[in-house]
Amino acid sequence: MSAQIIAVANQKGGVGKTTTVVNLAASLASKNKRVLVIDLDPQGNATTGSGINKSSISGGVYQVLLGEAEVKDAVVASEAGGYDILAANRTLAGAEIELVQEIAREMRLKNALAAVEGDYDYVLIDCPPTLTLLTLNGLVAAQGVIVPMVCEYYALEGISDLVATVRKIRQAINPQLDILGIVRTLYDSRSRLSQEVTEQLQTHFGKQLFDTAIPRNVRLAEAPSHGLPALAYDAKAKGTLAYLALADEVLART
Ligand code: ADP
Ligand code: MG
Repeated sequence: MSAQIIAVANQKGGVGKTTTVVNLAASLASKNKRVLVIDLDPQGNATTGSGINKSSISGGVYQVLLGEAEVKDAVVASEAGGYDILAANRTLAGAEIELVQEIAREMRLKNALAAVEGDYDYVLIDCPPTLTLLTLNGLVAAQGVIVPMVCEYYALEGISDLVATVRKIRQAINPQLDILGIVRTLYDSRSRLSQEVTEQLQTHFGKQLFDTAIPRNVRLAEAPSHGLPALAYDAKAKGTLAYLALADEVLART
């Protein structure tokens, strides 16, 4: 069986992409799945949130994208998370510029992953909040996209942009790409707006909307400063339990 490759993407920042990648990865790992996280965001938040010191790594996703390293040599183990990670560091921002000159520049990640697809059950890709060449590499490599979103007033417009992007990439380069699911993050079940947006999402997206909503939970926000997924920081926290439930939904869909 080859890996399910899932990109976590949304053009907006601060919607819980990285939090979802790290905690979904740890949750899947706790269910005995072999997981690889790919940190495609030059900010490297998934890397530090997995307990990896950015300055301690000599190679990572940047070297892989430029063809200077193989994935299997560039991954490091996140002991806190129970998964492997292809880490980012600041040099990744420069990859964008260098990649432009390369051949098949949007296929780089996909081609590199082919060598390790049998080693993992899930590959989760943390995309930056812009549709750059890095994000494009993530969406070209993936079969599924998970879209985290905050239930606020303009949320639906943001999502339709992403749906259009996914459709374009499917038509042009990656016929297998589809939205795996939309997950509500930073969710406040008491707010009327959250409930209204949820109803709109159900109307527009039906079963594509995950049943699980990730609550706004301070433990999820604290865990990264300790270099830990929430599961290793507070296993009983509401946010931790929500990501475990999301992992069950992902397992059922893939
Ligand atoms: P993105 O990767 O989309 O930019 P992040 O995952 O980094 O978003 O989340 C943005 C901020 O919100 C971070 O400080 C993170 O710790 C916090 N955060 C994310 N999800 C939650 C949540 N469910 N509850 C509380 N804080 C959260
Ligand atoms: Mg992020």
